[in-house]
Amino acid sequence: MRVHRDSLGHWYASFVVRREVVATPAADEGSGIGIDWGVSVTATTTSPGFDLPYLGHRKRCAAELGKAQRKMARRHSGKRGPQSKGYQRARKAAATLQKKAARQARHDASAWAKSVVDNHHLIAVEDFTPKFLAKSTMARKATDAAIGVSKQELIECAARAGRKVVLVAPAYTRMTCSSCFARAKQRLGLAERTFQCRECGFIDCRDRNAARVILAVAERGHTRVDDVSHASSPFGSDVHAV
Ligand SMILES: [Zn+2]
Repeated sequence: MRVHRDSLGHWYASFVVRREVVATPAADEGSGIGIDWGVSVTATTTSPGFDLPYLGHRKRCAAELGKAQRKMARRHSGKRGPQSKGYQRARKAAATLQKKAARQARHDASAWAKSVVDNHHLIAVEDFTPKFLAKSTMARKATDAAIGVSKQELIECAARAGRKVVLVAPAYTRMTCSSCFARAKQRLGLAERTFQCRECGFIDCRDRNAARVILAVAERGHTRVDDVSHASSPFGSDVHAV
């Protein structure tokens, strides 16, 4: 057994155990799922039962973290002389909370990834990579981190199970109609939650429509909306020809 202690003072013991390998159940050919990443719902999918909401305890963690960080800001940070005890305590509290939130996020993501992988043969994922900008808010960093960890867990889990994963470029996924594949002239405003197609009248939740576009692109063997011809409906006769 290996025992180690991290910088926060948490102890870990690691050892090898034998366990039975549980084979991933066979999923129907043609059971595909499309996944769009977002802030309030981490993963919106083509099958609503598999959506991954942005979970509350991480929000609570983010609030506690914000408190610890504001405390840090008030305490003497050591720019003039040695750091104060209060600053060091607040910094340790912030680091502990951050680590706890990250562990919970990974646990949630891994359970979610397993259920998605168990039930789907083809997994089409928006290839979104969060940019951690210095000016991003703490809350935004936390939601982006949840996306990052969920995407990673999903791709790894799918690879282990031998499922097909297609990463679809995010460009135009939110501007394209998942029913007729016409593209809207204008980008939807951030506050606009509903997608409405001017060509065919199709209406859906913006993120659900994007998930359907992502799946349709992958089902046709492509990785970009631009590669799919606008004339061919994603749910038309050629959908199974890929
Ligand atoms: Zn349409």
